[in-house]
Amino acid sequence: VSRAGGLVHEYWTGEGFRDINQAAQWRQAAIDMVEAYVANLDPTDEPRGVERTVGVVHGGTSLSGRIDRIDQRGDTLVIVDYKTGRHELTIDDAKSSLALAIYAVAAARTLRIGCRRVELHHLPTGAIVTWEHDDDTLKRHLDRANSIAGECASADSAFRAGEQTEAVFPARPSSLCGWCDYLRQCAEGQAVTSGRASWRGLPDGPPRG
Ligand code: SF4
Repeated sequence: VSRAGGLVHEYWTGEGFRDINQAAQWRQAAIDMVEAYVANLDPTDEPRGVERTVGVVHGGTSLSGRIDRIDQRGDTLVIVDYKTGRHELTIDDAKSSLALAIYAVAAARTLRIGCRRVELHHLPTGAIVTWEHDDDTLKRHLDRANSIAGECASADSAFRAGEQTEAVFPARPSSLCGWCDYLRQCAEGQAVTSGRASWRGLPDGPPRG
């Protein structure tokens, strides 16, 4: 357990925090959170993969991603995705996640073991939300990914063919523009916000530790 906390300490970066005090508070909170999580893990239970890249081709679209953790439980694989945000997770988060569905299919294809179950592990609370896919739900997600990729490819082709950027990729300013990495290059976004400091998303007051 202390080794896990030590790794957080070793690889922590204070970049993006208001100052060194805020960075130190959040580093300690992260160490506490990780230590509390790993205290409930079986150290002899070796995951089938960690930060494992997997891929699958569906409908002509090549889909790939890097999975936080793949467990093998019995003769099936389980996708584990870590979450650290404030948002309290629901089953719908696991069920509706396009990424998790792609991971399940891609992991099964890559490791040649069935995979239907996806899990979100919320480190701040220790809550685990699970969803068991079937062939139909997985196919629906992959069809959607294929459709999104098709729309992106069409927009890309139109752009290369000389269509106006604004027509192909119209800006859609909203309250989220304050967090956007492209705000400095986006006049429409700047018209609705002047941007927010990166640490503004943190809750008021000291982190839970
Ligand atoms: S700043 Fe521009 S690019 Fe970013 S989300 Fe807003 S409208 Fe979109």
